[in-house]
Amino acid sequence: MTTTTYDALVIGCGPGGSSVATFLARAGKHVLALEKEVFPRFHIGESLLPCNMLIFEEMGVLPALRAAGFPMKYAAQFELGNGSISTRFVFREGRFNRAPDAIQVERAVLDHLLLKHTRASGADVREGWTVSRFEAAADAVNVEARDPAGQTHHFRASYLIDASGRGNLTGNQENLREMHPKWKKLALFGHFENVALDAGEPRTDTVIIRLQNKWFWIIPISAAKTSVGIVFDKDEFTASDGTPREIFQRWVDSTPPVSKRMKDARLVGAMQTTSDFSYHNRRLVGPRLLRVGDAAGFMDPIFSAGVFLAMWSGKLAAEVVGKCLERGQPNPRLFATYEKRVRRGLRFYWRVVENYYTTPFMELFLRPGDHYDLPSAVNAVLAGELEGGWALRWRLEYFFLLVKIQRVFPIVPRIFFGASRPRKLNPYRNAEKV
Ligand SMILES: Cc1cc2nc3c(=O)[nH]c(=O)nc-3n(C[C@H](O)[C@H](O)[C@H](O)COP(=O)(O)OP(=O)(O)OC[C@H]3O[C@@H](n4cnc5c(N)ncnc54)[C@H](O)[C@@H]3O)c2cc1C
Repeated sequence: MTTTTYDALVIGCGPGGSSVATFLARAGKHVLALEKEVFPRFHIGESLLPCNMLIFEEMGVLPALRAAGFPMKYAAQFELGNGSISTRFVFREGRFNRAPDAIQVERAVLDHLLLKHTRASGADVREGWTVSRFEAAADAVNVEARDPAGQTHHFRASYLIDASGRGNLTGNQENLREMHPKWKKLALFGHFENVALDAGEPRTDTVIIRLQNKWFWIIPISAAKTSVGIVFDKDEFTASDGTPREIFQRWVDSTPPVSKRMKDARLVGAMQTTSDFSYHNRRLVGPRLLRVGDAAGFMDPIFSAGVFLAMWSGKLAAEVVGKCLERGQPNPRLFATYEKRVRRGLRFYWRVVENYYTTPFMELFLRPGDHYDLPSAVNAVLAGELEGGWALRWRLEYFFLLVKIQRVFPIVPRIFFGASRPRKLNPYRNAEKV
């Protein structure tokens, strides 16, 4: 048995863990990051946001990511499953966006580059190490972990950052996880070759295709491979006949904008499923403990915000820990501010996600008009401008007010999901309330 003391111990070295560990190590802190997998390893979450690029730059990893040749993402497209309407949000055209583009990634590659950068920044990063439990004492946090040979080790650190993702190590130990009361979604996805992509710059866009109660993503993650997935109700999946591949193919075949792109596509590897991803922890901090990324909470992949939220909260956590280390003790006010900011960020996306699944929201989202810079405000959500200030906040509040009005009084034309427009669209039937 060995006991070593660190300034900070980070559980998990996905994007959240690598962000917090890198920022702390670059500030000269003594950091240990324990990652249970050996990288490269598969992970879902492949479309990034422009605001991610700003964090990569601050971490000093942007040149390595640019050199890796990931496809650039300049815009996000949204289209209805019947092909009746589509729109493209180009990031450089968004008035509130601080960055003009993002990258699409194969997470095995991105996460490995980030982990190596964390190590090169001075953190002690150990792969194949699984944290099994923690205990917060007055002066430090004690952590128990198994090494790759299965041997148990004990560590002490002044601060613990849980970046264990959906593994939710500390939240589970304290029984803090709360699932969303309504959202029981499942994702079915795979990597494909030969997907027919748009020509020119839109070739590397994220394309979202919205059906009545489900949606597809199409994300080009390398020159050869495209990630394609569908998100829908878990109950519907359970009640469907056939293998995941067959269920997926049925939805592809019955959705023209997807079937035309998937005509010659070939699955590389296996079809995968994942579910139960809409949750949050009741507390995001504890004594000497901060939770970042998915270990704080997650909602739904529709706005591609998971990696950004993980890295943004990782950066905030590093700031809190750095200041507390300098002051020589935990500062409850800094911990409380962290909890408030991260929870606000999570709520921001929960609100847009809950609205996204309603028809009035989609009607305005697809045609936000051109007054008061509303298209730019919507664009900013897609870019990850989470703390965009008052100019952005009031526009989004105004947008949500318009969504409420749209429920009963059509400001913009009604959309429809079937093959042809019904003779009369009943606004109340379409006005699902979340
Ligand atoms: C279907 C789906 C699609 C998605 N699409 C997108 C997208 O397009 N864009 C986007 O930005 N996000 C997307 N996301 C979200 C994204 O996957 C996550 O939000 C993101 O990976 C969170 O990063 P993280 O660092 O918090 O956690 P993770 O990336 O999960 O990293 C956590 C790490 O902790 C390690 N770990 C876990 N337990 C332990 C332990 N006990 N000891 C040591 N290590 C441990 C794990 O091995 C892992 O490497 C999607 C999510 C889903 C479900």
